[in-house]
Amino acid sequence: MGTDYFTYIVVISIAGVFNILLGFYAYQSKDQFSGSKTYTWISFFSAIYAFGHACELAGKTLADIWPWIAFQYTGLPFIAPVTLILMLQYCGHDRHVTGKNVVFLLLIPILSLLFVLTNPHLHFFYQSIELQRAGVFYIADFTIAPWYIIHGSYTSGCLIASSWILISYWKRAGSAYWKQLLTLLISVLLPMLSSLLYLLGAVPFGIDPVPVVMCFTSGLTLWAILANRLLIVTPIARDKVFESMRDGVIILDLRGVIIDFNLAAWRMIPGLEKNAIGENAEEVLSSSLKNFRVNQTGTAPVTYQLERNSRHSYYQVQSAPIFKGNGKPSGRTIIISDITEETLLKEKLEELAYKDGMTGIFNRTYFIGTFAKLIKEAAKEGSPLSLMIMDIDHFKSINDTFGHLTGDEAIGHVVQLAKEILEGSSLFARYGGEEFVAALPGRELDEAASIAEDIRMSIAASPLRTNAGKIAITASFGAAALTGEKSIEDLLSEADHALYEAKRSGRNRVCVSENGKMLSHIK
Ligand code: GH3
Ligand code: MG
Ligand code: MG
Repeated sequence: MGTDYFTYIVVISIAGVFNILLGFYAYQSKDQFSGSKTYTWISFFSAIYAFGHACELAGKTLADIWPWIAFQYTGLPFIAPVTLILMLQYCGHDRHVTGKNVVFLLLIPILSLLFVLTNPHLHFFYQSIELQRAGVFYIADFTIAPWYIIHGSYTSGCLIASSWILISYWKRAGSAYWKQLLTLLISVLLPMLSSLLYLLGAVPFGIDPVPVVMCFTSGLTLWAILANRLLIVTPIARDKVFESMRDGVIILDLRGVIIDFNLAAWRMIPGLEKNAIGENAEEVLSSSLKNFRVNQTGTAPVTYQLERNSRHSYYQVQSAPIFKGNGKPSGRTIIISDITEETLLKEKLEELAYKDGMTGIFNRTYFIGTFAKLIKEAAKEGSPLSLMIMDIDHFKSINDTFGHLTGDEAIGHVVQLAKEILEGSSLFARYGGEEFVAALPGRELDEAASIAEDIRMSIAASPLRTNAGKIAITASFGAAALTGEKSIEDLLSEADHALYEAKRSGRNRVCVSENGKMLSHIK
């Protein structure tokens, strides 16, 4: 009997020593995992609990035992909340482990310690303590007071929260980490289970088995964390990289069902909420990404334009299969890159290359290239095509009289009036200074002449309003049409001759060249 008694005390003491060694080892490995300091604290508190408990069991009178009970409480109430902190750190929730939160978590344990220390006077923790002989041991038999219930519930609460964090992390981190996470889950739950058995009286001699169980589970915890260093880093790093990526990533299983997505994807795609996990990707995404197909494979990324909060965004979406180690496909990733900046810059550059900066209509280079194509098309299809050239009359004198800025305004004004009459199918461009050209596909020469006439009348009837008063503006026009085989140069030269004729014969008029024969347009 006596031997059993000592054996048990020795076992508990060894548990205490073992805890100290584990704590020391964790402290030494502080470079290897971020929660090492926290783990050292757990070991320290567990060792206090184990030694205190061993000394409690060695006592034979209440006076011997009580100081050791009080001593145990300098460690015991802190173990569960510090375990919760370790699990938060381990599962990558470090940002919640702030000084303020730690103090908050330790508030109830500190009060528990205070109420145990003051129990002989206040009786907040235990109503009464009596010494009982249980087999070979003398153990303290308690009648609990309200704070004991608070302490017990808080301890269980912290351990349940730790388990919940581990289980939800398990769901996210995937099956690769199951051994590690299961081990940690057992280490968290086993002390709770054994203390439940103890409270239910299902333990021989009413001896608290928790210190010994905890020595075993502390070892398990450290093993789980340090067993494979890669595994400590990978799940946390994976989460951090995944969440901080600039590109949106959606992960699908083989059936095309969404199994995960990152913060960037959530920001980019309206309707991609947490409850989209488990849903068919095409159904969830097609409302934002028109005609989205999961199988649009990696070769050609598809660009989508989305409008959110009246901001246009351009996204490039690429889908690629994921393969398992054995080469078999296991799902797909959809990578969404925000290409808004690049697209807008490209549009701007295109605009600069094709358009005239001052008037916003096409520039000469674009006109020449496109007009050449229009000529080819019209010649091939035998459809009509006309060309009109317009030049502002006596523009130099507008510049000289009212200044260059007013001259610019006059150019803008004339362009605006011409645009109102020319329809969308025409190709209107600034040919140089205050000279403009319009290619009119589908228009015969007389139609071109009458469009030019409409513009001429509109300009003549709409003086430019300035601070210095109204400025009358007129313009002259030359027109020619594609007949037979004419080159771009032939057409331009013919229309230019017609314009020259309009200027020569008095300006503010339309002249047409019918295969070189000059005609004033008859109104
Ligand atoms: P005409 O009736 O014979 O066409 O007489 P004009 O004075 O209009 O003669 P011309 O077409 O040769 O004159 C073009 C002038 O337009 C010369 C140039 O100083 C001016 N000009 C060219 N580009 C611009 C511009 O962007 N802004 C301003 N304000 N003036 C311009
Ligand atoms: Mg002019
Ligand atoms: Mg000119």
